[in-house]
Amino acid sequence: MQQDCIFCKIASKDIPVNTVYEDEQLIAFPDINPVAPVHLLVIPKKHIANILESAPEDAALLGHIMATIPKIAATAGLAEDGFRTIINTKDNGGQTVYHLHFHILGGRFMTWPPG
Ligand code: ADP
Repeated sequence: MQQDCIFCKIASKDIPVNTVYEDEQLIAFPDINPVAPVHLLVIPKKHIANILESAPEDAALLGHIMATIPKIAATAGLAEDGFRTIINTKDNGGQTVYHLHFHILGGRFMTWPPG
């Protein structure tokens, strides 16, 4: 856990959220500022600032997150029409919270390219 990391505090339950999925390695919860009818965040409980900062030993954890995202999305009702998964990295990627997180966006058509 990293001091002053808001997502570490969510992972440790110091900040309560409406958890939609949780296991030993990750937790998923609604984004506080949704940009789609369904907007969830999936975070590793381990503090990793972003994918640039992930280490070789994080490969299994990252794989577990990717393998779990479709289950979380399906539970949220997004399997039939689909959804978008986004990882923002550093300034040009639009990252504002420096604890790795995967956005799940759904419930409407997503345009491309993003802004
Ligand atoms: P951006 O802010 O541009 O979306 P990120 O990819 O870093 O950049 O996303 C951080 C996300 O975390 C934002 O969508 C923001 O609404 C969300 N967020 C910040 N604090 C909380 C919180 N306490 N609970 C839920 N979501 C949060």
